[in-house]
Amino acid sequence: MKQTALSELGEFGLIDRLKEKLSAGNASTVRGIGDDCAVLAKNEHEYTLVSTDLLMEGIHFDLMYSPLKHLGYKAAMVNISDIYAMNGTPEHLTVSIAVSAKFTVEALEQLYEGINLACSRCGVDVVGGDTSSSVTGLAISITAIGSVAKTAVAYRSGAQENDLICVSGDLGASYMGLQILQREKHVFAQAGAQPKLAGYEYVLQRHLKPEARKDIIEQLKIAGITPTSMIDVSDGLSSELLHLCTQSKMGCKVYEEKIPISADVATVCKEFDITPLIAALHGGEDYELLFTVPLKDYNVVKKIPSVHAIGSVSARSAGAVLVSKAGEQIALQAQGWKQF
Ligand code: ADP
Ligand code: MG
Repeated sequence: MKQTALSELGEFGLIDRLKEKLSAGNASTVRGIGDDCAVLAKNEHEYTLVSTDLLMEGIHFDLMYSPLKHLGYKAAMVNISDIYAMNGTPEHLTVSIAVSAKFTVEALEQLYEGINLACSRCGVDVVGGDTSSSVTGLAISITAIGSVAKTAVAYRSGAQENDLICVSGDLGASYMGLQILQREKHVFAQAGAQPKLAGYEYVLQRHLKPEARKDIIEQLKIAGITPTSMIDVSDGLSSELLHLCTQSKMGCKVYEEKIPISADVATVCKEFDITPLIAALHGGEDYELLFTVPLKDYNVVKKIPSVHAIGSVSARSAGAVLVSKAGEQIALQAQGWKQF
């Protein structure tokens, strides 16, 4: 049988390929693989949402610069973010860890302090998990469980032609925070110099301690808006826009000048000679919400603080394009993921 290298398929190709080996037959499976959460039958009015993520030392985090408390907070928040990405309410987490003997009990308590802080901010209970030893570094696997009203669930697949595309917060900061951390780690390894982190607080915090956008979900609810589609930005705006377009069988047009990038990010980008737009499109780990709303909701959605309209949904035949400041149309590409 032909043996295929993982690099040939990439993450999404691999998931699609593995999915072919599975079959879903339960009537209670409303939506399986392919969205931010699985959607399961709960009761007459609600669905249960389930999402899981695995964080590996050396791949997703580096203990040289990730304090364990921050790491716990981030691990919980990134899972909770997937529940919000379905317009849901997170309720429970299970937390599984694999640890080597190099960790003390107190160090792991720090990890759990961070998990608890994230949970208490979002009204979530940790209800279980698993503990194992590890010979390959720390692994943290978290499953988030939540619920959503059937009438409010937001899939990646619901975008309609002419819908407005919105994103919360600003983009690219987490990636630039990571650049600073990697640079300072390198300088420390080479010269033993103390890391210079002052002045970079915003981007560092965005990388080390991201916030799931509970506030945006609450604001949308208050405004009476149910997004037609939604996803959280974990791999980068470009990749997530393509997910929304592919699954909704639509195209999109987003405008460079409308993409929110903070002044802090622009400053750090200059230092690294990185184009801010590239950090915003492909940086990832921002955990902002990208969603679409009917055009008629424009006047309501624009009043929500930190929501930015960046473009609109078009017919599939128009493709997924970015309109540059110069008016040039550039095809969006997914570059978010390069692990294998
Ligand atoms: P997110 O970035 O929102 O966490 P992912 O890109 O990790 O989503 O996953 C996309 C979809 O594929 C999700 O529905 C997820 O549950 C599913 N998935 C990912 N890895 C696997 C796997 N190994 N087996 C089955 N389903 C998977
Ligand atoms: Mg997601």
